[in-house]
Amino acid sequence: MNAISEPTIFESLESEVRSYCRDWPTVFSTAQGSWIRDENGNEYLDFFAGAGALNYGHNNPVLKQALVDYIVSDGITHGLDMSTVAKREFLETFKQRILDPRGLDYKVQFPGPTGSNTVEAALKLARKVTGRESIINFTNAFHGMTLGALSVTGNSMKRAGAGIPLVHATPMPFDNYFDGTMEDFHWFERLLDDSGSGLNHPAAVIVETVQGEGGVNVARAEWLRALAELCSRRDILLIVDDVQMGCGRTGPFFSFEIAGITPDIVTLSKSISGYGMPMALTLMKPELDIWGPGEHNGTFRGFNPGFVTSKAALDHYWSDDALHLSTMAKGEKIHESFAGLAAAFDGVSTRGRGLVQGLVFENADLAGKVCQHSFEAGLLTETSGPSDEVVKLLPPLTITDDELDHGLRIIADATAKVCS
Ligand SMILES: *Cc1c(COP(=O)(O)O)cnc(C)c1O
Repeated sequence: MNAISEPTIFESLESEVRSYCRDWPTVFSTAQGSWIRDENGNEYLDFFAGAGALNYGHNNPVLKQALVDYIVSDGITHGLDMSTVAKREFLETFKQRILDPRGLDYKVQFPGPTGSNTVEAALKLARKVTGRESIINFTNAFHGMTLGALSVTGNSMKRAGAGIPLVHATPMPFDNYFDGTMEDFHWFERLLDDSGSGLNHPAAVIVETVQGEGGVNVARAEWLRALAELCSRRDILLIVDDVQMGCGRTGPFFSFEIAGITPDIVTLSKSISGYGMPMALTLMKPELDIWGPGEHNGTFRGFNPGFVTSKAALDHYWSDDALHLSTMAKGEKIHESFAGLAAAFDGVSTRGRGLVQGLVFENADLAGKVCQHSFEAGLLTETSGPSDEVVKLLPPLTITDDELDHGLRIIADATAKVCS
């Protein structure tokens, strides 16, 4: 190695805005299942899974075969929102495997390929339906980086990037914001009742059932039910942003199923294509579908290879409850390991649901150090939370028990190292 190394093309040409590559300073080349490899042949167990875009693992063979067959047969790749065979088969499968068995009656919008696109569509639709401007979001929420999505996002550094005022959104305390010392929705209801409060009657509430970027904050089922009841009583639309927690991350396909609620609008992205390909959906109750043709348009709303892998994933993983059950069992395994660490070390606690689990450090610096040590030992994890104080685990749902044990040992060793 030279003492003074030349800057890489990433450093010299790619914008300073790059981020994950700074945490994992190597050059990745191939990946399979729960493992990702760099160009020097080092292998890393992936407890990050594309921020939740790879719930079925890297290059899942079932999905890959469907994709390869489709491409080799000259199936449509780009189709704007033209009707295609691949889209028809996706819609039929989504209805048959996901919506119908859950008794959900939603129309499906293709809003553009990213999570931010579906959030923007949801906010626009809520405003169009109600004729109101104001949206309620929650403390530590994350909904994306476009202006509308940023306006309902909490993180001050990310908000500052907007460069203009972010308006028409009002934050309310998420579940347990006051450590149980304040009655749920006390403040929210008070503002709604008080004509002098300064809160305009909201069009919608947007909520994550588990805040991933916000620090693995888990809303209780009863809190979600009370929120849904409040919204329905007050004629406010309920949007559940399931971009990260949907597609089985917390166990059931939709993260809100445990609360028995039916949101008015649901956003999905990240793992909906199953293969890490850009794809997003906005689901809405049929009576809310008052869009005019082309009113929310976009070039990349119909990425057909994504429909193909999505259909393959739904057919393979969502025809029974095996994945749901194994996700809960693996989540419990992580929880037990983390509870052991919390008992062994001061200032460490844990929270999570299904296969999103967090190890929380009172001393925020330690979380970053655990991730750094883990990387050196061959494991990818990231931090989340307002001070990056949480080691957040998002392993593929398809991870094996042995792989999970291997990764948990690395995290336990790293925690012991930084805590002693
Ligand atoms: C990732 C994420 C988004 C934004 O998705 P992008 O594809 O990055 O635009 C929105 N909401 C939630 C909950 C997310 O996790």
